[in-house]
Amino acid sequence: MTQNRPLTHVRVAIVGTGFSGLGMAIGLRQRGEEDFVLLERAGDIGGTWRDNTYPGCRCDVPSHLYSFSFAPNPNWSSTFSPQSEILDYLRDCAERFGVMPHIRFDTEVEGAAWNDDQQLWRIETSTGPLTANFLVAAQGPLSEPSLPEVPGIDSFEGTAFHSGQWDHDHDLTGARVAVIGTGASAIQFVPEIQPRVRRLHVFQRTPPWVIPHRNRPLKSWERTLYRLFPPAQLAMRAAIYWARELFVLQFRNRAVGRLLERIPLTHLRRQVKDPELRRKLTPGYAMGCKRILPTDEWYPALTKPNVEVVAEGITEIRPHSVVAADGSEREVDTIVFGTGFHVTDVPIADRITGRDGRTLADVWQGSMHAYKGTTVAGYPNLFFLVGPNTGLGHTSIVFMIESQIAYVLDALGTARRSGADTLEVREDAQSAYNAELDRMTNDTVWVSGGCTSYYIDRNGHNSALWPTFTWPFRRRLREFDRAAYVLRSRARAAADEREPAAVATA
Ligand SMILES: Cc1cc2nc3c(=O)[nH]c(=O)nc-3n(C[C@H](O)[C@H](O)[C@H](O)COP(=O)(O)OP(=O)(O)OC[C@H]3O[C@@H](n4cnc5c(N)ncnc54)[C@H](O)[C@@H]3O)c2cc1C
Repeated sequence: MTQNRPLTHVRVAIVGTGFSGLGMAIGLRQRGEEDFVLLERAGDIGGTWRDNTYPGCRCDVPSHLYSFSFAPNPNWSSTFSPQSEILDYLRDCAERFGVMPHIRFDTEVEGAAWNDDQQLWRIETSTGPLTANFLVAAQGPLSEPSLPEVPGIDSFEGTAFHSGQWDHDHDLTGARVAVIGTGASAIQFVPEIQPRVRRLHVFQRTPPWVIPHRNRPLKSWERTLYRLFPPAQLAMRAAIYWARELFVLQFRNRAVGRLLERIPLTHLRRQVKDPELRRKLTPGYAMGCKRILPTDEWYPALTKPNVEVVAEGITEIRPHSVVAADGSEREVDTIVFGTGFHVTDVPIADRITGRDGRTLADVWQGSMHAYKGTTVAGYPNLFFLVGPNTGLGHTSIVFMIESQIAYVLDALGTARRSGADTLEVREDAQSAYNAELDRMTNDTVWVSGGCTSYYIDRNGHNSALWPTFTWPFRRRLREFDRAAYVLRSRARAAADEREPAAVATA
């Protein structure tokens, strides 16, 4: 087992064991590749679905689609599965596809530097160094909890935690709780904790667009059908996929968006009768500009007598209270931060150093960019999964992950077949690709919808989202396009006396 022996060198090192890392590892094994390792900082697999254990946590894309295409699960209990089932599913995949022996747990990647002389990655981890020919960064788009920059945040003397690090030892029964943030996690856990707490102050910066949820338990005959006749589940998956692709029209066309806004506005009207509360909860920006949230429980929870929505924003946290922008102060025992993640400023960017000794964070300057969301000029043999501009607002990220995995596998196969030691995307190919992405983003709701969101980086640039339908992404990544790359071979370079530098073979 990889876990038990000291590692010095592997062909492929993968950072992370969420959907991306596990999917990559499974792909490698299916191609007969065993010379790889998964480096995981935690003591278990699962990424997002290991870390987010807050009450009510579940996916908001149907499970038939939010799962690997090659591993359908006929046993989902409901159409949108709870966290524990998704985690069990990932564990099952890791076991079934023989990935577990390749994982090094409790091993955080602290740095990775490209060594151009040896043409490999030198990786520093919390359990020692290793080298790898190829590095796959699958560290997750939403794996680093983000806290707001509020004066006094460290002075709070009660219990405070982030939704992605839920403190299950802390009993909320009878507590006075402040929830900060009203995003995808908060709308799931607030209805769960509301009946237990004494007082719940929900601090909202911007109200989300909330649509009715279609979650329902799967009937036993449906599960039997999927078990006995797997094509039925594949057909369901395909139907969900194409139905969700239609949402893209709404991101790209304001008239369609305005028409569809009637759905959440009706939802709000039906569930919230108090005009003042309804006013607070009515978004003042175009739907889709921030993630659209499906729930039937959020609004009813906010109407309960022990709940207050504070729409003023926070200016300060004191040892026992939270202060809103209008100067009002709420005494609380507990603060739960539902404030999201570092999405466009991923910490791994500070840890990866390229050919010229610069970190990705230095090169990106706050705006992540890559070629096809996967490779970066100046960083040979590095592949991102769920890298820049691969995030989605409307469908399953697993579709993007599988597209990228196919591309990386083809790249590795190309390197092997052509005898190349390194693959590096050409600067001009990367620039042209990103210019195209910018053009595609220009007329979307994300940049013109009148909101601030985690999709947009500190420079006001969309560096998180893929800006259109997902099937063109899959088509673009179907094959490794070697014309966009420089392939180098040390052996060939050494053999060519007239050109002592490395030889480009593309
Ligand atoms: C609450 C929640 C609900 C979501 N629901 C949906 C949904 O319904 N549909 C959807 O499409 N997406 C959803 N997402 C997005 C979700 O993050 C992705 O769908 C998917 O799980 C990402 O998988 P991943 O493997 O890329 O990243 P992750 O699952 O985040 O895994 C990354 C792994 O890398 C490890 N890691 C990170 N840095 C290092 C390091 N330096 N060294 C070693 N290991 C490291 C982490 O510990 C983690 O295990 C949700 C996210 C959250 C937080």
